[in-house]
Amino acid sequence: MTTSSDAREVVGVVRCPKCGKNNRVPAAASGAPRCGNCKAPLPWIVDAGDDSFSVVADESSLPVLVDLWAPWCGPCRAVSPVLEQLATEMAGRIKLVKVNADVAPQASRRFEAQAIPTLVLLDRGKVVARQIGAAPADALRKWLENALAGKAA
Ligand SMILES: [Zn+2]
Repeated sequence: MTTSSDAREVVGVVRCPKCGKNNRVPAAASGAPRCGNCKAPLPWIVDAGDDSFSVVADESSLPVLVDLWAPWCGPCRAVSPVLEQLATEMAGRIKLVKVNADVAPQASRRFEAQAIPTLVLLDRGKVVARQIGAAPADALRKWLENALAGKAA
């Protein structure tokens, strides 16, 4: 259980897109992080590995966009800033969890990541949608909006 508590304690500093205040945000928590100053929802972008994935992603009460990437993958480097942009636009609605497939064999197997980047939308640990390969920002935004809408239907 040490890995669980570690993941909950990991904090990153996130700048509030609305008021500019820096906030400390945990890797795992219930609900969605909000700015301590103006209460705006904060972008939630977290790295996870096989040891922390269940706490960071499966137990999240927000839908989780999983980005399975690798350092040697060119398309991953192109898609990564797009995903961060979407996570910022959709702050309070999704959590972005980045997984380096090279060091997370369990997650790679679970999501059948034969090609990367593989993007998976998870709702409480259940796969809602999957996108294999890079795509332009507009296409990814549409994919994500549709997947989130389908989840609510
Ligand atoms: Zn703020």
